[in-house]
Amino acid sequence: MPPTIVSRRASKPSPTSARRGVCPHCALLCDDVELRPAADGSHAVVANGCRRAAQRYARPAPAAEVHVAGAPTTLEDGIAAAARLLKRARQPLISGLATDVDGTRAAVNLAERCRAVLDHAHGDTLARVARLTQTRGWYATTLSEVRSRADFVLLVDTELGDRYESFARRCLGPRAGLNDDTPRTVGFIGPAGRLPRDAAPDLRLPCRSERVAEALLALLAELRGNPLAATRPAGLARRSLTELAERLRAARYATIVVTPAALGAACEPVLGAVCDIVDELNRDGRAAVLPLGGDDGAQSAVSTCTWLTGFPLRIGFGEVISYEPQAYAGTALLASGAADALVWIDAFGNCPEPPPGCPADRTIVLGATPSNLAGTCAVHITVGTPGIDHFARLVRTDAVVTLALPQQRDSGLPSIAGVLTRIAEKL
Ligand code: SF4
Repeated sequence: MPPTIVSRRASKPSPTSARRGVCPHCALLCDDVELRPAADGSHAVVANGCRRAAQRYARPAPAAEVHVAGAPTTLEDGIAAAARLLKRARQPLISGLATDVDGTRAAVNLAERCRAVLDHAHGDTLARVARLTQTRGWYATTLSEVRSRADFVLLVDTELGDRYESFARRCLGPRAGLNDDTPRTVGFIGPAGRLPRDAAPDLRLPCRSERVAEALLALLAELRGNPLAATRPAGLARRSLTELAERLRAARYATIVVTPAALGAACEPVLGAVCDIVDELNRDGRAAVLPLGGDDGAQSAVSTCTWLTGFPLRIGFGEVISYEPQAYAGTALLASGAADALVWIDAFGNCPEPPPGCPADRTIVLGATPSNLAGTCAVHITVGTPGIDHFARLVRTDAVVTLALPQQRDSGLPSIAGVLTRIAEKL
């Protein structure tokens, strides 16, 4: 059965009654936020939210507008114009891909029909993490394991401010047992400005971001019983590194938390060093990595593409499906002119502007926020946000839990799955 094109829930909750929801605004997918709806479609977060959730939920429902070549029109006309553009294209790119599981399924189907390449707005970070897991693998863990079992958590240069702010509330509080009541302690390596607000680390190793990989290698040398000769490795006091190594060794279940997107170009050296440390600890203990990422539907997109095609993102559809993590970088395809049409998907409203390179008259934008592009691009369709304007399924940051997100308002905005399915039917 094809996905419903517009939100389908008929019930209209009282504008004043608070209810529990699953927050789609970062990949933690907190399932305990309490929301109070307002008449304009916005929501006040009354419990268990964070600053990001409060700001995103405060957005009123946008008008259900469709523009073709800058002129307002109907959804049917917008879908027909998008299909005509894709029929003419030699090498379309479907990117942004900020959507839910059903939206990604529809994107894969559309890409097959028009022989497009698929990438995500966060494709660079996804490709770095994929390369690491493909080339060396890692011991990964889940939010639940950290919450219930990790007795020492090391935060490595983690950005827990703008995103994942509720991680500390959900996972770093007192442990909930499993026959072991050892209290949890927390360590931190990185710039002091990145210390999460709600976390009060027991052990802090202040270190500039560009020296974190060096600090981790010094820590690895400590763990291996062969400390570096330098008196202040990475600018850190030797005794603090020794103490951190001792805490990691003493832990029954040590977890190292990283946010790959915040590491930028240092992502691979830092992740590589973290994996080496976890490997070392697992020789005679238990340790794991928790990478926090996958926002804007990125984890859902990677998981869904892998289920459907056997490959993560940066795949192309031709005679066969090809996986090219370098050559199919969306930004590079656009900059080089290799992609001659673009479908840019931003159902969460966080990536409204596509990367430069595709002429406006060959750009289709399906976005959740009003955009200046509506007046210039070939087709602009305002779409609903998953878990707010329509029922959605999203894969959580730890990649093993998929959550159902009930619809929160009756905005009449179409879903990405519905729009893409209708475009594909016309090809
Ligand atoms: S941490 Fe993320 S999922 Fe949780 S409430 Fe904040 S924005 Fe929403």
